[in-house]
Amino acid sequence: MADFSYLSIVDEKAAFLDTLADAIWEHPELAFAEHQSAKMLIDALRAEGFEVQQNLADIPTAFSGRFGSGRPVIGLLGEFDALSGVSQRAGATSPEPIGAAGHGCGHNLLGVGSLGAALAVKRYLETTGCPGTVVYYGCPGEEGGSGKGFMARYGAFDGLDAALCWHPKDVTEVRVFSTLANVQVLYRFDGMASHAAAYPEQGRSALDAVELMNVGVNFLREHMVSDARIHYAITDSGGISPNVVQPHAEVLYLIRAPFNSQVRELFDRVCDIARGAALMTGTHVEHTFIKACSNVIPNEAIQRDLYRIMGQIPPPEPEPASLEFARELTLRSLAGKPDANPEAPLCLGVLPYREGDVLMHSSTDVGDVSWICPTAQIHAATWARGTPGHTWQVTAQGKSVQAHSMMRYASKVLAAEAVSLLTDPELLERAKAEHRRRVGPEGYVPPIPQGVRPMPMEALIEK
Ligand SMILES: [Zn+2]
Ligand SMILES: [Zn+2]
Repeated sequence: MADFSYLSIVDEKAAFLDTLADAIWEHPELAFAEHQSAKMLIDALRAEGFEVQQNLADIPTAFSGRFGSGRPVIGLLGEFDALSGVSQRAGATSPEPIGAAGHGCGHNLLGVGSLGAALAVKRYLETTGCPGTVVYYGCPGEEGGSGKGFMARYGAFDGLDAALCWHPKDVTEVRVFSTLANVQVLYRFDGMASHAAAYPEQGRSALDAVELMNVGVNFLREHMVSDARIHYAITDSGGISPNVVQPHAEVLYLIRAPFNSQVRELFDRVCDIARGAALMTGTHVEHTFIKACSNVIPNEAIQRDLYRIMGQIPPPEPEPASLEFARELTLRSLAGKPDANPEAPLCLGVLPYREGDVLMHSSTDVGDVSWICPTAQIHAATWARGTPGHTWQVTAQGKSVQAHSMMRYASKVLAAEAVSLLTDPELLERAKAEHRRRVGPEGYVPPIPQGVRPMPMEALIEK
């Protein structure tokens, strides 16, 4: 059995880590506006002796904290942005919003859990004098922003030998999933206003164009790869007066498919449909590329090693009060959700390793890191079984005893895996060989074109 004594720092710093995660929970900030959250993490890195670099990729809330020297270089990814519309009182078991935004994806835990891992790796490097470097990445704008995609295009992850991440969830497991690549694009149509009854012949309706574009895309859906997904939201319907021909309208598209190349092809076809809609209505269309992220490339070599480590570091048993809270939440607000069970409201232990690649029909900007270096992730059961992501129920559980203890469990597993990669050259080489094979000869092509800047979520909401 390996010597895990360096992990004791996670217990020594438990109060500090839990308080930091709570403070981020209390200041929910949307994509690319996470100024307080980023500052809290940066202050913590500095206080712990990490060399901090701010303003990565020219993004004010993107940063890194580095400790150690030489190779290998292991990255630990942290997120800290919140979501609009999922505010909730901590510890409540039925809806009780307390503001506008909330940590409905658990990123207050994610960012601090990865920080805890960085502290433990630092402790290992200090006490053993072993060569190697750990880099904590403060990654803003995961939700709808693809912050890591912008950071990757800038080269922030170049030079990493491997990267590790985790995500809060309702189960504890190695995350073996690949995810969908995506692009998000805003289409704006401009027409001509006119009195809709007196002078309809002089009007050119931008709203008609948006409707025709959406119809065109609905027909496209039959002729795309079956795992692709296309969603849209009308962000400007041209005003509220039916007796005015709408002179402007906007629709925001999110296009997803299993591989970057398939997304690129679908994006071109959606642009053709937008042009067709403009032609049909005599309007003009322009698009603004908002963001994109790559599909996740799994790494079985590291994933299997994570599973081995999770077998050696068992998750903490939930406290009776945590079980009681989870049972109450399950009874009151999770009825009918898959896996929700008041008799067994929390996941105990580690789920068996899932064989083969499993496609998850969602997206994460961890995908872009996974194209650059071998990357692996775990889930830790911070939430009651059956809790769906992006909900008030997640926010409600974001400061719980269970959330804190499983966050620190994730810190320990990621730190132990980082040490495994630092000290086992054969493992790292296998991980790299697998990565080369999966990425293929073309390598990483950043899906975000040069010149596109991150768009704060608040700016999109205001549109
Ligand atoms: Zn999320
Ligand atoms: Zn998330």
